[in-house]
Amino acid sequence: MTALLSTFFRSKHRNVQPNLAGNLIRFSALVQSRKKAYFVLFLGGSSPAGSQVSVIVQVPAQLVWHRTLCPGRDYVLTELRVSKLPGHRYRVWMTSPSSQLLPLKPECVRELEIELAGAPLEANPQSLPWPSCPQDKKGPSPDCLVRDSILLSYTGMVTDTLNQPAGLYELDRKLELCLAYQQFHGLRRVVRPGVRLELQDVHLLQSVGGGTRRPILAPCLRGAVLLRGFSHQVPETQSSHQVSQGSLYEQLVWEHQLGLPVYLWATKALKDLACKLCPHVLRYHQFLKYSSPGDPGLGLQILAPILEVLIPPGCPGRNTHGEILEEPHHCPLQKYTQLQTPCFFPTLAVLKEEAKRRAWASFDPKTLLPLPEASHLPSWQLNQRLAWSWQCLLPSAFHPAPVLLGVLVPSSRKGCLQLRDQSGSLSCLLLAQPLQPITDPRLIGCLVRAERFQLVIERNVRSNFPSWKELSTTDFIQKKQARVYVQLLLADALILSVPRPVLQSATSSIPPRTEPSPPEGPHVEQSRLFLLSHKEALMKRNFSVPPSASSEVPQPTLSFHILGSWLGGTQRKEGTGWGPPEPKEDENSDQKVLLLFLGSSVRWFEFLHPGHVYRLVASGPPTLMLFKEGGSSCMSQRPLELAGCESCLTVQDEWTVELASSQDIPEVLGICPTLPESSLTDLLSGNFADSLVSFSAEIVSHLWMKPGTSGAVKRCVKLTVALETADYKFPPHLDVYIEDPHLPPPLGLLPGARVYFHQLEKRVSRSHNVYCCFRSSTCVQVLHFPPDTTVSAPLPHIYLAELLQGDKAPFRATASCHVVSVFSLHLLWVCAHCTSICPQGRCPRQSPTCPAQTSVSQASIRLLVEDGTAEAVVTCRNHQVAAVLGLCPSEWTSLLEFVRGPGKVALQFTGPGTQLESSAEVDEPLTLFLWTLCTSFSVLRPMVFSFELERKPSKIIPLEAPRLQQFQCGESPFLTRVNPKIRLSCLSIQEPEHPSALGALVSSC
Ligand SMILES: [Zn+2]
Ligand SMILES: [Zn+2]
Repeated sequence: MTALLSTFFRSKHRNVQPNLAGNLIRFSALVQSRKKAYFVLFLGGSSPAGSQVSVIVQVPAQLVWHRTLCPGRDYVLTELRVSKLPGHRYRVWMTSPSSQLLPLKPECVRELEIELAGAPLEANPQSLPWPSCPQDKKGPSPDCLVRDSILLSYTGMVTDTLNQPAGLYELDRKLELCLAYQQFHGLRRVVRPGVRLELQDVHLLQSVGGGTRRPILAPCLRGAVLLRGFSHQVPETQSSHQVSQGSLYEQLVWEHQLGLPVYLWATKALKDLACKLCPHVLRYHQFLKYSSPGDPGLGLQILAPILEVLIPPGCPGRNTHGEILEEPHHCPLQKYTQLQTPCFFPTLAVLKEEAKRRAWASFDPKTLLPLPEASHLPSWQLNQRLAWSWQCLLPSAFHPAPVLLGVLVPSSRKGCLQLRDQSGSLSCLLLAQPLQPITDPRLIGCLVRAERFQLVIERNVRSNFPSWKELSTTDFIQKKQARVYVQLLLADALILSVPRPVLQSATSSIPPRTEPSPPEGPHVEQSRLFLLSHKEALMKRNFSVPPSASSEVPQPTLSFHILGSWLGGTQRKEGTGWGPPEPKEDENSDQKVLLLFLGSSVRWFEFLHPGHVYRLVASGPPTLMLFKEGGSSCMSQRPLELAGCESCLTVQDEWTVELASSQDIPEVLGICPTLPESSLTDLLSGNFADSLVSFSAEIVSHLWMKPGTSGAVKRCVKLTVALETADYKFPPHLDVYIEDPHLPPPLGLLPGARVYFHQLEKRVSRSHNVYCCFRSSTCVQVLHFPPDTTVSAPLPHIYLAELLQGDKAPFRATASCHVVSVFSLHLLWVCAHCTSICPQGRCPRQSPTCPAQTSVSQASIRLLVEDGTAEAVVTCRNHQVAAVLGLCPSEWTSLLEFVRGPGKVALQFTGPGTQLESSAEVDEPLTLFLWTLCTSFSVLRPMVFSFELERKPSKIIPLEAPRLQQFQCGESPFLTRVNPKIRLSCLSIQEPEHPSALGALVSSC
């Protein structure tokens, strides 16, 4: 107790309370615990330096001293007592209610020895080990470098308020000040720009990471923040939400025990989130409210999954007494690790713009069309291939990773689902989980938070590249458009319900209608259950309006309709449930109904799926006729009769649709939401031409076609799909065409996606190929999004004989073969614009003269190959011909240059004797060269072909059967069964890895 300048103490008489005098070294922050408020002051003497005595002040009337104390001055504290701190082993000085704080007059004091029986007044700090964090024991791990903060004192001026509720300010334009680790209610009212503060024993943290660049000063409970100068600024009037927000930030520090780097990141994230959602989606107080266990605030719920990862479990709570009293000092600000920003919450508008920016930055015609292929394409084909492309961005493509957040709202203008925040909206395609569409309209208005999603950008480009040579010139791109949307599984997302009344007033998809005048009589809710059996496409349709309704010419209206059957009669709301259904007029009739959704009721489109039971809810005056409207208002009666419907009902804008609960559904109804599929034999046969078919398939390619190209009459999209079927080892491919008014196609028809197509029109082309078209009856449902990473499976390696097995044969495969002979070789130069043959490289087309200046070379070669099991005729085109002929790029270019003069060289090799038929005007040396080449071993050699069947699997004329053929063998003729020739289109050519491998293969057969 030599630290005291003077002590007056009578140990023998305990009832006399001692006075304590000394120099005020420092004092702690004002602490408000649940039980009481207190602060600690430290008195000390000049010799020996550093020793001090702590006094706890916790009498409410004395707390005001905290504002008046001045470190460095000498004080006397009267009538103190010694007390034991609850939860601590040691005893300390405390003021009594009658204690006084007086300035010290040295002449009035007398120094005495202190004799204290029992436990030491100030415990040896070593004897009270601080409950250490689990991290401390591990020692510094190499990847998370633990730093120590520096304890110092600082005086400076507040220059800016960064986040008032979170206690963040700017000091002297170069430092940040975080008051959150003190209880700073009192300070919050005072601190504003212009105020000078003295910070005692404040922690300095540098490079905390998480997006904060400047050094941070953060006082813990050990040191007080002293006001040293007032501000000229008028204090801001605090809105109530700012006060209430403060409690969430306090909760982060005091309950969730966030370290400073994480706290700073969390305050930024909450600020971003508030900008995204408040005040239109949510009120500030709803978003940033204090979370109690039964009533968690939304802000904290959104952050929770990330905080769970960032906060190590088992960190002890703060020990306020220990933090102030103990030496060496322990507090949450002492050690910290630099934070890698875990994620961010971009606004939807920012996310959309960034997606577009990246999609166009990576748009390169030369990458989309590799040169060897592009150099042989005429301009229409070139531009068609560039017309549509897509890109899928995963969160991992961004640093830091974005978290998707928005309120789910169905668009009543477009019918699609959207995520919305204050910045805008982003279309989205949702699945509850793979194969499961979303059916519950209660999701409307919920906040969706997803860390796993696919950000899809579909690029549409209108270009007029004359040929491949100009592909690097962007001037030929006339128009570009991007469609951005997200795809996600609700199973991967956090769904948070948003307080209703606020949402309704601000983000309801229904425009605020002029309230209909309340109808006479009581207002009741009525509902009726229906089982949905079929949904038709969402498209613009014409409706006949009753003549009396309007004199305007009716416009096509976005709409869809569904076919279903009523389950029971109309029910009325009774309390919170539904009353018994009204009896049907005719118990036996299966009451089919056609429900028509137009206007803003198209917003239900994404929730309605065949095989599910829904409840149609309407409120209004009680009327028996509510769900029994006649058909006259919506469409003529004739189609209804054809559909076997009793009634047609237009769903009113204000009606709602709910998913029926399981107890609502009668058991008799064997409801199975399996999707009906046409059998493959029905699909790929000529019998049922012009019928409607349904199937699920994986999309292989997606191509936009302009009118006038490759037979397309109208602008259309051609999807090539691989049918999903258990019967076939190799799924057959089929083409599906989408034309206006179904353009642009629904979201999600991306290569790699699995899609269910319901009621497509099946057609047969003139070349007997089956293909399908979108009709108004068609409904599409995405079952699986494309995989995040596409690993193209290698083609199966087969023997050619396997191709004779009909349906079991793969459509695409690879085979190791030997080239037996060449049938024909064509080399030509065509106009890039009109594809006429160009002698001397000029388009000969007159009247009208062709505008094109460029010609492109094209080549094809037909080969007979065999692999010991069967023979096949393979057609190779363009750059593949160079590979077949074994020419290097420069040789291939000069060969084509020789052809440019005549414009066309065609060679026919007839039979094994290889008599040559060539187009007449060819130079002899060129013909001779090609003839020699095609009959030499540099062409007739082993090769590995990847190919597809020339005959599409969708072709419906039957395969030629093997036929008997007569051969002459010496003197005797004999008959043998000859299989039809297999015709293949080459996809690529590889040289065999071991030239001898083919021989081994043949001998092993
Ligand atoms: Zn501290
Ligand atoms: Zn031309």
